[in-house]
Amino acid sequence: MGDHSFKSTDKLARRGLLFILSSPSGAGKTTLSRMLLEQDPEITLSVSATTRPPRPGERDGVDYHFVSDAQFDAMVAEDDFYEWAHVFGHRYGTPKGAIREGLKRGQDYLFDIDWQGTQQLKQKDDQDVVTVFVLPPSLDELRRRLESRAQDSAEVIDARMERARAEISHWAEYDYVVINDDVSECFARVREVLDAERMRRTRQTGLIPFVRELMG
Ligand code: 5GP
Repeated sequence: MGDHSFKSTDKLARRGLLFILSSPSGAGKTTLSRMLLEQDPEITLSVSATTRPPRPGERDGVDYHFVSDAQFDAMVAEDDFYEWAHVFGHRYGTPKGAIREGLKRGQDYLFDIDWQGTQQLKQKDDQDVVTVFVLPPSLDELRRRLESRAQDSAEVIDARMERARAEISHWAEYDYVVINDDVSECFARVREVLDAERMRRTRQTGLIPFVRELMG
């Protein structure tokens, strides 16, 4: 006993975390999320439940859990959601069951949700939640990005800018704030946050048996 020594490639058991990226639209959150999911095998998106009917090509249990209004009501009544919201006439929510199991196995979950969803999630499970807010380098740059990516009218862009200001006003409710001037720089900082949070002592459930063995 005690004759095997820890190598840097070994992994101690750890509890997963709920990683929330929020930003106004146009600040780069979607790109950052995609990069994270592609490059980090330990983080995944949670599958939400929705009352919206499936679109062609969408699969139940993969894109969403498609449920009836009655099923959604029952889930709300049974406190099955970390958070839920009305969006465009339908209801969407983050079911607890699969996530609870995943967290125990060290699975991390990425959430691309707004400040209201973030507040709800923190209220339900503060200790597993890590929140990051992505700011644009300037409002001029945000407008340029919104203008360059869509054929939206000036009115629609103005409305998006108004929503962006409202979203940005919640920046101080987040654990970390990164400014997305250069996307690869910004991504590197998001990775640092995630790596450091994974090393938190309280998440490293494998430490107690490790140290027990270390001390003989
Ligand atoms: P869609 O119907 O296009 O798939 O999604 C519409 C909107 O619902 C998106 O803005 C998406 O972010 C939001 N949404 C999807 N799942 C959830 C969820 O679990 N909770 C909340 N609050 N919003 C969600």
